[in-house]
Amino acid sequence: VDLPIHDAVLARAAEFGSTPALIDGTDGTTLTYEQVDRFHRRVSAALAETGVRKGDVLALHSPNTIAFPLAFYAATRAGASVTTIHPLATAEEFGKQLADSGARWIVTVSPLLQTARRAAELAGGVEEILVCDSAPGHRSLIDMLASTAPEPRVAIDPAEDVAVLPYSSGTTGTPKGVMLTHRQIATNLAQLEPLITAGPGDRILAVLPFFHIYGLTALMNAPLRMGATVVVLPRFDLETFLAAVQNHRITGLYVAPPIVLALAKHPLVAEYDLSSLEHVISAAAPLDASLAAACSKRLGLPPVGQAYGMTELSPGTHVVPLDAMDDAPPGTVGKLIAGTEMRIVALDDPAEDLGPGESGEILIRGPQVMKGYLGRPDATDAMIDEDGWLHTGDVGRTDEDGWLFVVDRVKELIKYKGFQVAPAELEALLLTHPGIADAAVVGARDDDGNEVPHAHVVRRPSAPGLTEDEVMAYVAERVAPYKRVRRVTFIDAVPRAVSGKILRRELRARPEEAS
Ligand code: ATP
Ligand code: MG
Repeated sequence: VDLPIHDAVLARAAEFGSTPALIDGTDGTTLTYEQVDRFHRRVSAALAETGVRKGDVLALHSPNTIAFPLAFYAATRAGASVTTIHPLATAEEFGKQLADSGARWIVTVSPLLQTARRAAELAGGVEEILVCDSAPGHRSLIDMLASTAPEPRVAIDPAEDVAVLPYSSGTTGTPKGVMLTHRQIATNLAQLEPLITAGPGDRILAVLPFFHIYGLTALMNAPLRMGATVVVLPRFDLETFLAAVQNHRITGLYVAPPIVLALAKHPLVAEYDLSSLEHVISAAAPLDASLAAACSKRLGLPPVGQAYGMTELSPGTHVVPLDAMDDAPPGTVGKLIAGTEMRIVALDDPAEDLGPGESGEILIRGPQVMKGYLGRPDATDAMIDEDGWLHTGDVGRTDEDGWLFVVDRVKELIKYKGFQVAPAELEALLLTHPGIADAAVVGARDDDGNEVPHAHVVRRPSAPGLTEDEVMAYVAERVAPYKRVRRVTFIDAVPRAVSGKILRRELRARPEEAS
């Protein structure tokens, strides 16, 4: 594990040689392992010749393409830290990330060039904007493949040097730059490898974005390290996704809950041959156990497994091992990986450790805990205590066998007259109603100033007449009185991040709901 990330991932590239490493799921263009290895070294040499130096921050701004990993490993080999940018970010958001991270270089794609230019203007300090494909007036990574510059000899210290600078999703506040060293990323890959990742002959569909740490790890670094073939899709569109699974004989899916929902319920799914699938793993947001069961039953697969992690943890700490998918209790996010410690502590007293069955905040200590938030020592100290424990902000409990269940985020818990209500539990219950297509629950104030569960519900087209009272009665029949939904608003769609996280902050901020 004490290798720079590009060497840790591509250590066996020569051995995998002519095996396809990356396939463009839209046009079939294929890169073999030998090409990935050779091409990223060429681009790395050209980047160094351009002036990219050790310690520089390079912003990678692209949807998933087969060039993304090349640009990524080329940059780290040249000694840069890569900050990944959401391809749908506005120029203002992108500009903020550029300024905050101090990025000197941008690598983008021609359709996003306008945004990148504007962002660079707003931020200042950017030396050059390069493109993966081609655009007049910009140097292209494709041209760089012909570079004859010598390969850079950069001394990387895996323990100290930052490989990736992803920004947290911003679900709960402003996105923060998370400094992850080469060693942290490589260690986490090694920890997860025996449990989840695929090997030669496996075909993984990269539909979740590479820019997010989950996609970067589960869909790029891990499968490439193991010799699997990664079929790359630029965005999630159900038909394209199902066609790719069928046509590329995909064996493993690493997805987020909205895709599990689609696989479980959407009529289109029945029109495709998905028999090549061997397993489905979901992470990034709470997944309801009955939804997971409906998905695996429909596909004729072992139960959908989960993994748990966060950007600050490089990112994984828990996973349902592939060989335990049949035995894991429904709803678990998995077991703690090797070389990592966990505590569950009382919400009102972090010094009090809780036992199996008791819910509290999840604390993690281990080699994959981030170096810190970039330029935010106070935020870092608030997250990681003196003894090295990272306070995840998530509520969870374990069972007697050590399986972890994530309840919700501490900050999202609704305090109803002294009782704590987890929105995720109510959302899962609402989804079992035949007339409800999607739901999100947030805390709202009632007329007496009490915090109460407020459901935002998307009706199914088949149930246009579903009423507030019906929704409230459905919940009331199935939960303890303190958990009842006390207010319902019908909406067109639940606001979600690409990773499937419900943007509850956005719902709370809607003016018509301020009370
Ligand atoms: P920010 O920290 O900026 O508010 P974020 O926490 O959403 O954003 P990420 O690091 O992408 O940013 O997400 C990590 C969080 O995702 C975890 O803290 C947890 O709340 C949630 N999560 C991850 N995996 C699971 C899972 N399997 N089940 C439930 N929640 C999960
Ligand atoms: Mg977070």
